[in-house]
Amino acid sequence: MSVKNVEMVVAPRQPHFVGDGFRVHNFIPGAYRLDMERMSPFIMLDYNSKFYFPPTDQPRGVGVHPHRGFETVTIAYKGSVAHHDSSGGGGIISEGDVQWMTAASGVLHKEYHEENFSKAGGDFQMVQLWVNLPAKDKMSTPKYQAIKHQAIQTVQLPDNAGKVEVIAGNYAGVEGAASTFTPVNLFNARLNRGGVATFNFPAAYNTALLLIEGSIVINDDETVDTDHLALFSNEGEEFSIRATEDALVLILSGEPIQEPIAAHGPFVMNTQQEIVQAIQDFNAGKFGFLEE
Ligand code: MN
Repeated sequence: MSVKNVEMVVAPRQPHFVGDGFRVHNFIPGAYRLDMERMSPFIMLDYNSKFYFPPTDQPRGVGVHPHRGFETVTIAYKGSVAHHDSSGGGGIISEGDVQWMTAASGVLHKEYHEENFSKAGGDFQMVQLWVNLPAKDKMSTPKYQAIKHQAIQTVQLPDNAGKVEVIAGNYAGVEGAASTFTPVNLFNARLNRGGVATFNFPAAYNTALLLIEGSIVINDDETVDTDHLALFSNEGEEFSIRATEDALVLILSGEPIQEPIAAHGPFVMNTQQEIVQAIQDFNAGKFGFLEE
């Protein structure tokens, strides 16, 4: 087992608004060298760093829009989002919850701050991650995994270091709550000050972490501050994280999908022809209907 080193640490870029409810820093694919091929199967990562939204009677968010060809994963750290889709599905994603939506052949959905959160106002902090699907699954039936915080299994770390929540994949023999189409590990590590956790992934897996809260040192060498992303090298397997203050770390590692990527806005397919087809299907109403 050899050490997996940090390839680079990426600072959050200038935020932009998605609709009027999500103030995000884009890391994947917009940041230098975090393109879809390098990060596959992770093809988009938007991070709403902690941001205060004042009270309003008109919930903020993003209106009806389509997706095809991949999965959207919403990880809530602060605040609450209501989701509705064209299959009639819907739900509320609150602090600690994860929504894993397989858009696959296509859905329409809308994402708004939950009504009571909007009325009260408050801090809002979330990640939206897009996980690509292999060609054979891109046109499969859409589905929805609403994963409540209590349903996520936890590994307690020795020496009161903290715990690791296994959203997907496997950590220390504990299986993740989400089912995935290709090998994906997605964890929330909640570390106490001074706590150490070690992680181990195949060298070829694309691996990164995003520091949601606190401050950490990776491999006793590389300091990472709040809201920064660390990208790991594709050499070596094992790395350690030491929390220099209480820390919350999102860890992602997945087997790259070695297929061509054709991406256009909310559609991510393998060829341009499939993108044209997606646009035609959307315009023809084949993604269903959802009221604004
Ligand atoms: Mn969406």
